[in-house]
Amino acid sequence: MRLISFSDEGRTRIGVVAPEGDQVVDLQAVEPRLPWDMATFIAGGEASLRAAEEAADQATGEARRPLEELTLLAPLAYPVRDVLCVGKNYRAHVDEFSGSGFDSSGAASSLPEYPVFFTKSATALNAPGAPIPAHLDPTESVDYEGELAVVIGRGGRGIRAEEAFEHVFGYTIVNDVTSRTLQQRHGQWFLGKSLDGFCPMGPALVTADEIPDLEAVEVTTRVNGERRQSGRLPDLIFGIPELIETLSRTMTLLPGDVLATGTPEGVGAGFDPPRFLRPGDRVEVHVSGIGTLRSPVE
Ligand code: MG
Repeated sequence: MRLISFSDEGRTRIGVVAPEGDQVVDLQAVEPRLPWDMATFIAGGEASLRAAEEAADQATGEARRPLEELTLLAPLAYPVRDVLCVGKNYRAHVDEFSGSGFDSSGAASSLPEYPVFFTKSATALNAPGAPIPAHLDPTESVDYEGELAVVIGRGGRGIRAEEAFEHVFGYTIVNDVTSRTLQQRHGQWFLGKSLDGFCPMGPALVTADEIPDLEAVEVTTRVNGERRQSGRLPDLIFGIPELIETLSRTMTLLPGDVLATGTPEGVGAGFDPPRFLRPGDRVEVHVSGIGTLRSPVE
């Protein structure tokens, strides 16, 4: 199932994208008792999915809307907390970032022994198609990071790697937009990755069954049509089961948690001189099986 969040006359709704891709079923128009926010919908588990399937089957008339007419929101527009992220999780990206001069972690160029976790502020979330406000970065060092993001379904603590996928609700796309200078200057990455609007997410949240072969998933980022990044999931240093096991060993994961899995080689900071984003640029992050997250830069 392909799910979207959208805004309709100021109200947030959840939509199911029809297989043809151009029509959306407005779930609340068919079944007003269904949650309107995605995190609550996800927390409802199998019951939510069954109810959504039934509503999508029954939908007629005004409950069916053309996708192109809708104002999309980030699928997790009302997140349960900050977005969980992993840094330096593709080998070639570790090398380019270590050599860029923007890595303040002091880890030299060696591969991380353990996953490098950080968060992006929930207030950084941004809708598909909405502009990235690069002008908020006084250091003019705004960079892109296309990433596959895992959305947790059933929460828990102490989740073993072997059972990790039982806790995955689905997948979406995140652009982990970063001010490289603020990232470097403040030691911790939180500030440089948490500027308002620096976390575009979407366009859709696809349930895990829609992506049967994760190994084949490819993450591609284009800037003004030029291909800058490309990576596949087998290139991850720490795979999804290991990330879930490591995080949940000490902290409780929640339904609706979003975990961005890291970015491949080809970020702007990796070029000499760096190729940072400028107002007027267009960034597109494509993940096979999910879609394309488009963001103009302002
Ligand atoms: Mg990242």
